[in-house]
Amino acid sequence: MTKLIYAFDEGKKGMKDLLGGKGANLAEMKRLGLPVPDGFTITTQACIDYLEQGGTLSEALMSELQDQLAAFSTRTNKAFSSNDNLLLVSVRSGAKISMPGMMDTILNLGLNDDNVEKLARKTNDERFAYDCYRRLLQMFGEVVYDVPMTAFDTYFNDYKKQHGYEIDADIPAEGLQEICERYKAIYEEKVDKPFPQEPIVQLTEAIEAVFKSWDNDRARVYRQLNDIPYDIGTAVNVQEMVFGNSGDRSGTGVAFTRNPGTGEAKLFGEYLLNAQGEDVVAGIRTPKDIATLHDQMPHVHQQFVEVSQSLEQHYKDMQDIEFTIENEQLYILQTRNGKRTANAAINIAVDLVREGVISKEDAIKQVEVKSIDQLLHPNFDEQALAQATVISKAGLPASPGAATGKIVFSAEDAKAQAEQGEKVILMRPETSPEDIEGMVASEAIVTTHGGMTSHAAVVARGMGKCCVTGCANLEINTQQRTVTFPQGVLSEGDIVSVDGANGDIYVGEVDTISAQRSEAFSQFMQWSEEIAQLSVRMNAETPQDIAAGYQFDATGIGLVRTEHMFFAPERLVEMRRFILAHNHDQRVAALNKISTYQTDDFEKILRQSEDRPTIIRLLDPPLHEFLPRSEEEKESVAIQLNVSTRELNQNIEQLHEVNPMLGHRGCRLAITYPELYEMQVEAIMNSVIRLKEQGIETNPEIMIPLVSTVEEFKTLKAMIIDKIERMAQENGHELNYAIGTMIETPRACLIAHEIAKEADFFSFGTNDLTQLTYGFSRDDAGKFINAYADQGIMEIDPFQTLDVDGIGQLIKLASEQAKAVNPNIKIGVCGELGGDMKSIAYFNTLPIDYVSCSPFRVPGAILATAQSAVESGRLSVK
Ligand code: PEP
Ligand code: MG
Repeated sequence: MTKLIYAFDEGKKGMKDLLGGKGANLAEMKRLGLPVPDGFTITTQACIDYLEQGGTLSEALMSELQDQLAAFSTRTNKAFSSNDNLLLVSVRSGAKISMPGMMDTILNLGLNDDNVEKLARKTNDERFAYDCYRRLLQMFGEVVYDVPMTAFDTYFNDYKKQHGYEIDADIPAEGLQEICERYKAIYEEKVDKPFPQEPIVQLTEAIEAVFKSWDNDRARVYRQLNDIPYDIGTAVNVQEMVFGNSGDRSGTGVAFTRNPGTGEAKLFGEYLLNAQGEDVVAGIRTPKDIATLHDQMPHVHQQFVEVSQSLEQHYKDMQDIEFTIENEQLYILQTRNGKRTANAAINIAVDLVREGVISKEDAIKQVEVKSIDQLLHPNFDEQALAQATVISKAGLPASPGAATGKIVFSAEDAKAQAEQGEKVILMRPETSPEDIEGMVASEAIVTTHGGMTSHAAVVARGMGKCCVTGCANLEINTQQRTVTFPQGVLSEGDIVSVDGANGDIYVGEVDTISAQRSEAFSQFMQWSEEIAQLSVRMNAETPQDIAAGYQFDATGIGLVRTEHMFFAPERLVEMRRFILAHNHDQRVAALNKISTYQTDDFEKILRQSEDRPTIIRLLDPPLHEFLPRSEEEKESVAIQLNVSTRELNQNIEQLHEVNPMLGHRGCRLAITYPELYEMQVEAIMNSVIRLKEQGIETNPEIMIPLVSTVEEFKTLKAMIIDKIERMAQENGHELNYAIGTMIETPRACLIAHEIAKEADFFSFGTNDLTQLTYGFSRDDAGKFINAYADQGIMEIDPFQTLDVDGIGQLIKLASEQAKAVNPNIKIGVCGELGGDMKSIAYFNTLPIDYVSCSPFRVPGAILATAQSAVESGRLSVK
């Protein structure tokens, strides 16, 4: 029979699938001899069974639970409801991947009306005992039965106010007793039955609540956002309580072995004396810097420093550690790889390699591709900042970024307004897991409470979202929808700018500048390039984009979309003249003018590229895209072209297509109007000649789009070669060029072996290939693709991530057959999927030479290809 519960002594770190991250790490720490309170873990399999069996705890699980509790009692010499040796436990969820959307923790479980008295007697501290009980009543109500937090908090805060107590610690034992009574009444009103007095009932209900939380809306949203599968389930950890709230020689805290914001190699964390875990994370009391623990309890601080160093060395990564101190005795309650900002991720990975803790390959695996994208985000312009009005400098830089948007005060408003296209900044006293969708929808999150480890901070860092916490000088009133700062008041809809790098907040919009590359970033990217197998080119045509792509170490240009060059007014008019011409001569006259512009364009591009391969794609879109649409525009075009509006309208009518994407576009344009491609080829080669005469050698690759028969390709290739050879003869230069094709129709994939005999290169256009293979219009799919995702019909959007089973098979067939008949053929991917991490992992398994994507995706793509090389173990030494 499958074992469903493991004592901490029975597990180890490699058992994450079964014990979840938290459970496996608790077991590992126990194995390492660290001070971990005893306990056991109910497996993820038990969770899956529970959900599959329609929400009942199986007999097998219940009987194992009895056995484990008995063994646990023997080991700890404590039992539920024992007079002298009272057992109290915490119950915590813990999936393989940590998930903030789930039920997190219930503490002090095992207390009831009698046991609270026993605890008071045993500790000789009635106040402490009732403080524990009121926490249990609240947590149990909230997480097991969804009693709103405010039901308890409002009463608690009113009670404090009425009695003139400033802080929680001012409330005496009798006060807490009264609060417990009221909490039980609140519980009963909301839940419709009394708070369960039997510890075993509390425990089983808590276990069920954890299992159910795997299926709640927040967890579902989080899984979807982070691509976490449903069927991995969550484990439940049951652990003996230790008490951080048992006086001033006790406390609780969270610390990172390195700074999660910057990566600095220095212990970074916070703690609160006389507090329980949720006080730190909930951000209600503002915690103290871990360094000051040294002044309070030097030996505990020293021991914690040693434990954290040994955990980092053991896990070979920055750790996020939860600890509790009970009467000067240190306990470790959790360790896991810490969430960190993009900048910190790079700095930590590079430092760990330099310190000899990990290899370059490990470093490459450690940094998420998403982080690289974040690093390329802009920052606020210093000069603009100097002019801006500051509303807060009191906040903590919880997660970097520079964001501007309209203030909203609730997660619902954030979501609703973002759906209307607004950029919003979510401002709240603190956030909780219910706010997750609103946080996703916001540009930045600002809270007045909480530190660097509050919910808002941790979740935002994980999302790569700008976040500032603990802005103590602001007063956020979510009812009146105002935020008061020392010099004034802002209301919902007012614009603010949030600097996640230093925690400052400004009124209005502040200009941004693009990001700078740090030395560690360059080093990290160099390692990635050494390991990457596919090279990464860029899709670009403007000087700025090309410069950016080369700064990011693109190896060439994988796609110049020439149509983007036809839309400037002076060019558009000539293009329209060409389209509306009645004969060859008129067409050539119009094209000659465009040719002058195009030569300049190509010269600029090739000058930037020099001898790096540069694919210039000949014109692709349907001609009607260049024609005027509105009546007004048509009238002015008719005047420009010196034709009547009637004639223009007739011409436009003739060019109308029912399905332009399947119509007169791509290479078909040049079969009917060869002059068009001849002009473009002439412009490319003229620019090559001009550069050659200035001593600059270039490497143009001419690409024909939308080919689906080998004859199309052969016809156009012959025309292009003829044109170039004539030019070479006239100019007396030897011209260097390659001619290839996009592979973006299913038929082209199926006959790739024939086309490959004729082509110097292939470039998979996955945008059109996806459109044509599914028969999903790429411009209209947005209308239905979300419904497919919601109904589980399609897990991925195939325009964003490769459909390996369908499109992937076409690409595999085409690339393998092409290389078989023409081993020298160069093969790339230039559609959107060329920059997608998961698609890149698949391309890495095929005989593909490079991927090409927009310039800002280049570094991420380089890392993705390095990661897939490391994961697949197919490392080549360069
Ligand atoms: C493609 O179809 O994937 C492609 C790169 O071409 P475009 O997006 O310009 O049609
Ligand atoms: Mg295309």
